[in-house]
Amino acid sequence: MAYNIILPKCIVYGENALEKSSEHIKTLGKKALIVTDKIMLNIGNVSKLTKLLENNLISYTLYSEVNSEPTDLIVNSGVEKYKNEKCDFIIGLGGGSPIDSAKAIGAMVVNPGSINDYMGKLIDKPLPNIVAIPTTAGTGSEATQFTIISNTKENIKMLLKGKALMPTLAIIDPEFTITSPQKVTAATGIDALTHAIEAYTSKCSNPLADTFALSAVKRIFNNLRRAYKNSNDFEARNEMSIGALEAGIAFNNSSVTIIHGMSRPIGALFHVPHGVSNAMLIVRCLNFAIKGEEKRFANISRAIGICETETSDIDCANKLVEEIDKLCKDIDIPTLEKFGVDAEKFFQNIDKMAEDALISGSPLNTRREPSKEDIIKIYKELWE
Ligand SMILES: [Zn+2]
Repeated sequence: MAYNIILPKCIVYGENALEKSSEHIKTLGKKALIVTDKIMLNIGNVSKLTKLLENNLISYTLYSEVNSEPTDLIVNSGVEKYKNEKCDFIIGLGGGSPIDSAKAIGAMVVNPGSINDYMGKLIDKPLPNIVAIPTTAGTGSEATQFTIISNTKENIKMLLKGKALMPTLAIIDPEFTITSPQKVTAATGIDALTHAIEAYTSKCSNPLADTFALSAVKRIFNNLRRAYKNSNDFEARNEMSIGALEAGIAFNNSSVTIIHGMSRPIGALFHVPHGVSNAMLIVRCLNFAIKGEEKRFANISRAIGICETETSDIDCANKLVEEIDKLCKDIDIPTLEKFGVDAEKFFQNIDKMAEDALISGSPLNTRREPSKEDIIKIYKELWE
């Protein structure tokens, strides 16, 4: 069996990574479109970047209209700005949304039509250089060939894919994550954990992706509670940033499975942030996924040291789910009800959500393949 691994051309990570990245940024273009959001602008993260660009004589223009959920409309105006301002590369700065938007804008600078035309197609025409600077430890978007964009006409979150979407340069500076609010730290941390666990237990798993996945799970288990309790814990923040990056590399080269598949429809219909809906689903989905497929889950437990080598696969797999449940409780992950989702509307939409989940393809990468009925059952369990 042969595999291939795709990575950004360059990854700069660790303390002062932004500063250390100048020599790389300089080579990528003359005028950058900075894709970001208002929060990044207000808390001063954007000025850290613009100072660096100015010091290196790189021009830029700001596009800070990204919301928590990037849409086809946001992509369209970003493309317009890129063209009008004659930019020649793109920098995404922020959580997953600005980075996803940066990739989608890059794709639509070189491809005809609307971003909505590219669902289910491979985006392979080379994009302008993309620099990804995450400010949360979660999505791993800095190291993936995916972007999630909402199609506002059909109310779905599209998963768009293609090697061309892989950023040229990823800058992972944990300093940026210090300002991440507690709720965001919790949700994005579980998102990263979900990436790693899904990648390792996916039908598409492969040896190198496995190495990144196991390392990510270990870092996240050891540091998420710390980062949640004390946002200034630099060591925990740094470990979480590396863990999220590793998890991104892992699922980019393997795949996500049932949790992500079921999570996107909740996000699209009820505007629950991506990390939160994953966190709401993770325990119920894993309880389903481990049955009859305990081995890989047991390997994770053993690798992170929560069960002994001689303990049975079933016990080790159950232990993993138990520990994840505890972790979610310790970092105050809300239920759908607590989040304020309307139960009646949720139940009315269960059939569409189950269909959209399956159409995305992710659930079928689960070793224990779920049917539509299984998915409906898990959605219902979220209210028990
Ligand atoms: Zn995710």
